[in-house]
Amino acid sequence: MADFSLDQISDLPLDLYIGGKVVPASDGGRFDVLDPATGAVLTSVADGTVEDAMAAVDAADAAAADWAATAPRERAEILRRAFDLMTERREEVAHLISLENGKALPDARGETAYAAEFFRWYAEEAVRGSGSVMTAPSGANKIVVLRQPVGICVLVTPWNFPAAMATRKIGPALAAGCTVILKPASDTPLTALLMARILEDAGVPAGVVNVLPARRSGAVVSAMLHDPRVRKLSFTGSTEVGRVLLREAADQVVNCSMELGGNAPFLVLDDADLDAAVEGAMIAKMRNAGEACTAANRFYVHEAVAGEFGRRLAEQMSSMRVGPGTRDDTEVGPLVNEESAAKVDQLVQGAVAAGARVVVGGRRPDREGFYYEPTVLLDVPLGAEILGEEIFGPVAPVITFTDEDEAVRMANDTEYGLVSYIYTRDLARGLRLSERLDSGMVGLNRGLVSDPAAPFGGTKQSGIGREGGHEGMLDYLESKYVAVSW
Ligand code: NAD
Repeated sequence: MADFSLDQISDLPLDLYIGGKVVPASDGGRFDVLDPATGAVLTSVADGTVEDAMAAVDAADAAAADWAATAPRERAEILRRAFDLMTERREEVAHLISLENGKALPDARGETAYAAEFFRWYAEEAVRGSGSVMTAPSGANKIVVLRQPVGICVLVTPWNFPAAMATRKIGPALAAGCTVILKPASDTPLTALLMARILEDAGVPAGVVNVLPARRSGAVVSAMLHDPRVRKLSFTGSTEVGRVLLREAADQVVNCSMELGGNAPFLVLDDADLDAAVEGAMIAKMRNAGEACTAANRFYVHEAVAGEFGRRLAEQMSSMRVGPGTRDDTEVGPLVNEESAAKVDQLVQGAVAAGARVVVGGRRPDREGFYYEPTVLLDVPLGAEILGEEIFGPVAPVITFTDEDEAVRMANDTEYGLVSYIYTRDLARGLRLSERLDSGMVGLNRGLVSDPAAPFGGTKQSGIGREGGHEGMLDYLESKYVAVSW
């Protein structure tokens, strides 16, 4: 599918998707979606208003009772069809992700498969009821625990995984019997709109899934969180916006799941298999050009192997082909927008000014679009801003350590706690270290932790709750306890 263009998707909605209908914004407003490879306008989509948000809540409310009462098997079959349809259309989905987000096609294909898998996993989970019955300790009554859908959910997603962050929420919400309003990121609304089409074709009834692109996201999301019919917010995005939304949600005590930022440490111990560590580092750092919450952000390498690790990492980084995401041979696409590219450069220049050494990269290439060169920085001083911030770009800062305690201390020295990576040949040592690292997930001799069957999420300011796995569905269910005499 070389030279892919939007016209190749005949049924892509470019307006809001509310109550099973594709409708313009109430005030007729639209906003542009850009191609990160050139900065040119790809197309425009309807810009949802507060009035549209209320219409979406009405639609989700109207569909809620029937969807909650739909047999789990039927909900499961619809989700399974969504998996099949998305799999059939995987090349279109991947190209669309690549067009609007910029990521290289291999990354976009990986995301598409990962995203579809949430429909399959939750199709399977939908029929595994999880209530319980037990005798009260006094013997006087039975304790019956029912699990019921939490209700109408507002789902807010980021631009870095426009398909997977949506399906990771929609899959369990629909399996649990909830109706949803998805507010995709303004940089990447198209993939979410295509998801709506796929779900409709799979048989999702009108109003169960509503998609509301909106540039005035603050006003639109706030209005929904203040409507008493809305019972849950599931947010994936920055910690900064997460904090704002937790405050907004407090007024109606809305149930919140938060998947926020990360600052992942990547530890290479003195006994690590260096080939495996470099391979894992490339995945943990370069998937999505570093635009992942799970991206390795700080490489702590034992002094005995730091020179060799840095040399091999630099060799691999400098050989990566940078170009437009949709071109078949591209390995690193552009970053999502101008601000992202400028921010990455500012962090790199700040580190250099503080004494870091650029081994490869270290600059924006001289071409149109929002590119950054794959970069390795050595001798990064502790306290450099780049070690405290999410880089969200293809930049690997390397720091050496001399003993394990020092490595753990540095790794945990962050307000984030999403994921950590450890490379060691000694599994017991790796497991002991996993316990000491303050993060919700650990990659032990693995550079990729994301798996639809596993509970994804963070500690500290990286979030609240888990997505994926069995736990991911519990976030969309309320436990109702019934005390029964019999
Ligand atoms: P962002 O926080 O800027 O935006 C996320 C979403 O929130 C977007 O849809 C945006 O339009 C919306 N938004 C922004 N301001 C808002 C407001 N005031 N009220 C309501 N909604 C608002 O994040 P981003 O730049 O799109 O994504 C990158 C961030 O997402 C990074 O911090 C990354 O670590 C994080 N992320 C986390 C995970 C995870 O699972 N933990 C996964 C992917 C991305």
